[in-house]
Amino acid sequence: MSAHFIVKCIDCGHPTPFLPTQLICPKCGGTWKEAEYDYKHLAHSLPLSLPGRPFDLWRYRELLPIRSPNPALSLGEGGTPLIKATNLGMMLGCPNIFIKDERQGPTASFKDRQAAVTIAALKEAGISELVIASTGNVAISYSAYAARAGIKLYAFLTSLVPASKMREVALYGTQVIKVTGSYDQAKKVAEEFAKQKNIYRDPGAMNVPTIEAMKTVGFEIAEQLTGIMGPPFASNTQHPTAPWRAPDWYIQSVSGGPGPYGVMKGYEELLKLGMTSSLPKFGLIQSEGCAPMVHAWKQNKDTAIPIQSPRTLIATLATGDPGRTYTILSDRIKNSFGGTFEDVSDKEAFRTMHILAKMEGISVEPATGVAFAGLIKLIRAGVIKSDEIIVVNCTGHTMPIERNILGDRWARNVVLSSQTMEETPEEGLLSALSKVATDRFPRIAIIDDNADVRRLIRRILQSQGSYTIFEADNGRKGIDLVMREKPNLVILDLMMPELDGFAVMDALQNDPETADIPIIVVTAKELTTEEKKRLNGHIQTLMQKGDFMSDELMDEIRSLL
Ligand SMILES: *Cc1c(COP(=O)(O)O)cnc(C)c1O
Ligand SMILES: [Zn+2]
Repeated sequence: MSAHFIVKCIDCGHPTPFLPTQLICPKCGGTWKEAEYDYKHLAHSLPLSLPGRPFDLWRYRELLPIRSPNPALSLGEGGTPLIKATNLGMMLGCPNIFIKDERQGPTASFKDRQAAVTIAALKEAGISELVIASTGNVAISYSAYAARAGIKLYAFLTSLVPASKMREVALYGTQVIKVTGSYDQAKKVAEEFAKQKNIYRDPGAMNVPTIEAMKTVGFEIAEQLTGIMGPPFASNTQHPTAPWRAPDWYIQSVSGGPGPYGVMKGYEELLKLGMTSSLPKFGLIQSEGCAPMVHAWKQNKDTAIPIQSPRTLIATLATGDPGRTYTILSDRIKNSFGGTFEDVSDKEAFRTMHILAKMEGISVEPATGVAFAGLIKLIRAGVIKSDEIIVVNCTGHTMPIERNILGDRWARNVVLSSQTMEETPEEGLLSALSKVATDRFPRIAIIDDNADVRRLIRRILQSQGSYTIFEADNGRKGIDLVMREKPNLVILDLMMPELDGFAVMDALQNDPETADIPIIVVTAKELTTEEKKRLNGHIQTLMQKGDFMSDELMDEIRSLL
């Protein structure tokens, strides 16, 4: 079967047929090339071929560097859901945040796309042994696909990789070689080993199948967003209507950078094919202790200075030397896509993991915590606007949960003495349980007529600690509630029908039993000077609805309790 694509050297433009193991340009010796397809033909044929195909990675097979896809090698890669982050959106005041849930791939990371396409290409090329270096997830993914394809894999892992991940790699029959050193050192050792044994070493980021595989993340997002939000400019006949919608932002945490490189190429191709009419901006997030791309970006440089010894607990993101990938990414962000590089601390990442799990029911690995912490930072800085459509690449599971995420108070013990068990088992159990009753948690009353706002505040509270929460949906019930429950704090809305927040405040402060309970007022409207005067001295804090962040609210709450 003749190939439907060629590869071109990005330095001299020399075109060659694709041979996955031929890494060097025969003309100039360069090692970077990109696949090129017959876009003119595909612009007509692709929209006709897509309907009825399963929603998985092979849906876009004409745009992948595989001559004939082999279903026997597949593990169901691609086609992951795009999930709206409604609660996080409410918390951040950005209603259109979507999660591309790559956790739902065969080994729970978007490396499954890379592994599926690379292993398929190597199988087509007759490869039977393979060497890779990895910060963890690539090794897990490649191991699964190599096992399926009958390819023997040698994985060089930095000793930073958690032992549980190493064991998973070994489980698939991969030979694990633990390198006590950085990821960049592990790469060098792998290269040396491959040379000596004359085994093919997959170069990772700068590889055609990798970049081509990552494109499918971008394709799927465009198709899914269109399904959820409708085609762009649907009601505006002035603009040419492309069938698919690109998001305004694609957010990902980056290590070596093949993910965003591939997604960029995907969106460039969709534009060429006339499937979309815009490009997303890229928000690329690194961990503070290993952020060579962010440093270079902030100093306006087009090459990154390698970090010799990364200082991050997050092994997945510990690529100290991004090499040429940074130059390519930063050039495209500057000249066509738009966007930025940003860093966050490990601590922020761990905290965000916790928020995401409690607010959205999504448990991620620390590298994805970095992406979401970066999202929050960019929204706060005003770089991402509240009306923009944002997609975050969400990858990786948290099994087993690392201790430093939860701290040591994540469980409560119920200890039953054997005596009480024997005599009155129920009583013993009940009295033991009463010790973990919610009574000793700080008590907070939320008085607001809007159920969504009450739900949001409740979620923010629950995501950050243990509180006993009471709710009232109007002023009259609110006063009764406070009189009855004597909470430690009241969160009060001003605009409510019948008895408004001002009246509630007056009533509480005129009663000596409730006069000392601190009040946080949350309001949707700009207050007049007169209204501000009325509040003055009676409340502790005034917060604007819609743009309060959980941090601000929580800082206030903690300081008042
Ligand atoms: C690989 C990986 C990254 C980094 O992506 P690159 O495109 O390789 O830089 C981020 N998060 C997770 C969970 C990953 O597996
Ligand atoms: Zn060349």
